Formats: sequence, C-alpha cells, structure tokens
Amino acid sequence: MKKISLHLQILIGLALGLSFAAVSIKLKLPVGFTVNYIKPFGTIFINSLKAVSIPLIIASLVVGINSIEDTTKLSRIGGKTIFLYLISTVLSVLLGIVVANVVKPGKIISAQTRSNLIELYNKQSNTVEQPKQVKSQVKKAPLQFLIDLVPDNIFKSLSDNSNLLQIVIGSIAFGIALMKIPRKKSKSILTTLQVINEALVELIKMIMRFAPIGVFALVSSLLIEVTSNSSSSQIFEILNALVWYISTVLGALALVTFGLYPLIISLATKVTYSEFLKGIRQAQLVAFSTSSSSATLPILMEKSEKELGVSEEISSFVLPLGITINMNGTSIYQAIAVIFIAQALGLELSISAQLAIIANITFSSIGIAGVPGAAIVATALVLEAANIPAAGLALILAPDRILDMCRTVTNITGDAAVAVIVASSEKELIEKTDREI
Ligand code: ASP
Repeated sequence: MKKISLHLQILIGLALGLSFAAVSIKLKLPVGFTVNYIKPFGTIFINSLKAVSIPLIIASLVVGINSIEDTTKLSRIGGKTIFLYLISTVLSVLLGIVVANVVKPGKIISAQTRSNLIELYNKQSNTVEQPKQVKSQVKKAPLQFLIDLVPDNIFKSLSDNSNLLQIVIGSIAFGIALMKIPRKKSKSILTTLQVINEALVELIKMIMRFAPIGVFALVSSLLIEVTSNSSSSQIFEILNALVWYISTVLGALALVTFGLYPLIISLATKVTYSEFLKGIRQAQLVAFSTSSSSATLPILMEKSEKELGVSEEISSFVLPLGITINMNGTSIYQAIAVIFIAQALGLELSISAQLAIIANITFSSIGIAGVPGAAIVATALVLEAANIPAAGLALILAPDRILDMCRTVTNITGDAAVAVIVASSEKELIEKTDREI
C-alpha cells in the first residue's frame, strides 16, 4: 500500500480533531476526559519541539558563521551579505507586523469567545513563571533590554527558553571567536557541531512524525475547552478567523516572492523581472514540495549559477549562509502568527512590545534550521518572550504545513535575490553567453 504523506496525515489529524471536538460537544461528553487523556499528547508534541530548539540554534549558528572560511578574502562579501540578510529580515518582520495590524485576522473572534480563550489561557499562564524579558519590561529601566542580552551565567540561559536572544547572541559571539582559531584546530569542533546539527534535524523529523497525533490532540482539546462554557457555533468563528489568518500570511508571502523581490532585482541588476522568476522557478517548486530550504540548496545553487548568472564563488558562499540564517518568509509568517494569536486572545501589544517582538523574530530567525516545521519552535519561544501563552500555538498549528511550504518558497527566493545583488555589486554576474551549460 502506498504510504500516506506526512502532510496528508497532518490534515487527517486535523480533520479527526475537528470531528472529535464536534461530536464531543454535541454529545456533551465530559471535558475532563479530553483535558486529562487527549490534551497531554499535544503538550508532549509542543514540548518535544521546544526541547530541541536551543541545541539546534547553537549548532546551526556556529556552523553557519564558520562557513565563511577565509575571513580576509570574504570579509567584504560577508559584510554585504550579512547586511542585506539583516535588512531584508527586519523589513520582512515589519511587513508582517504591519499587515497583521491592518488586516487584524484575530479580531474576528467575538468578545464572548475571546473571554473564554483568555480565561482558559489565564488559568494556564498563572502556573507558569513570567519570562525574564517581560519582568524587565515591567521594571522599565531604559537600557534593561541591553542588559538582558548579556547573561551573567551562560548555563542559566541555556536552561531557560525565554532567554533565546541571549543564546543567539552568545552563539554568534562563540562562532566568531571560533573563526579566529586556526581551522586545523577548530575543525574537529565544527565537524562535531555539524554532526549534532544533522542529528537534530533527524530528531525534528522523528518528532514531526507525531505531528498528526499532536495536531489532533491540540485542536480537539482547544476547541472542546473553549466551547465548554459557550455555544458550539463559536468553533466556526475560530475557523473563520483561521481562514483570515491563512489568507493574510499567503497574501504577504506572495507579495514579497512574486512582487517585491523580482522588482528589486530588475531595478538593481541587469537580471529582468521575468528572468529572475523563470530562473528560480524549479528551486521554488522543490522548496514548496519539501518545505525545506536545506533540501533546496543544491538546486538553488545550480539555478542561481546557470539561470541567473551568479558566479560560483558568490553562490557557494551566499546561498549556504542564506539557507541557514536568512528566512524572510518565516519572518513574515512569525510576525503575523504572533500578532494573530495576541489578537485572538484579546491581548493588547504596546508599540514597545511589538518592537521587542521584531527584535526577537529577527534574531531567532537566524537560528531557525531550514527544515520542515522549524519555525514553530522559534515561534513558541517568541510568544513566551512576549508573555503570550505559547499554548496559543494550538490555534495556528493545523494549517501550518501548507504555510510552511509557502514560506519556504519565500525563504529561498530571498536568498537567491541577495545572491544576485551581491554578485552584481561584485561584478560577478556572468553574461548568458559566457555561462557554462
Ligand atoms: N521550513 C522552513 C525552511 O526550511 C523553515 C520554517 O519556516 O519552518 O525554510
């Protein structure tokens, strides 16, 4: 028998979760059963994803930074590349935040359903310690956010998911320090981290196999709990909000992938709008079907060189770095997801809270691995850092796979766009007639 793809299994998990919730609500089955015997599987799924996140961030960042081998030769190109990656990431998060604030996909939920959701999450968050960043925001010391970037004990931050930013910054610093050591000496630790990275990616794949059960448990328990003291028609209200949420993410991703990138490329380089989109098309399809930037790297490099004319020297440096640290689609998605969840739970986010979210997403997206579902982990941490209950992820987990496929397309298109711009500025964009076929 043909094996059902994970993607389909997750959709089946979602459908079963919705049906189970509908039946359970209709037959007025005791909520305690779902809370005690079904919900824990959803919690285990989210916890296992969170558990791999910190080692994954450290390993992929240190390895990514050290892919810049010869510092002197590559420092100029490296500077340009990192600058462009950073700028495009910040702009992507900003776009996501603006779009989510304008469309307000989470506000569709009525006051009654919202207050049920808040009550539910308040119960949960009362038992959870407030993250550090939030505590410091309450203190409001003007430079507290800078102080919070530097841990006084690295092992303490490693054991606390709300210290993501400290871990990302620490990993970058360690990566740079490692670059200063002769490659002969650092090779063994880099190879070890590379292997750890690969093993963690395998681990995520193993965890993702339980995604259908996790999605079933999360969706059914969420709906059953939310509707336990309200009308069942509210399920449809949440679904309606989800449709808005999905359309908002897809609209923003499409705008950037098929509008902004090719437009910028056609204005800044000699590659035309349609040449760029045509050249990158196959890589986009691979990204869409694998949901993995890493898996798309070989074809991305080939197409960037053969179809777009990026020299091998530039592509072999800019693209592997890009698939590790540059995730524009993921950044847009995370920004919309976080604001959506806050809106759905009726949580007001001040401008400073939204600025903190921009910083958290920008830095955390650097550490997201280019594998399916990797962003969920980081999104859970960004939510926690903003004091939005991470359990709110249950709201957006079900449609995540399809959004993952689409954001991965944007991720690799962004990497290719930066490669073309860097190559053009270095006069390394090879004419069609001179390219090797
Ligand atoms: N699947 C994405 C990628 O590989 C990462 C994510 O957004 O989860 O680029």
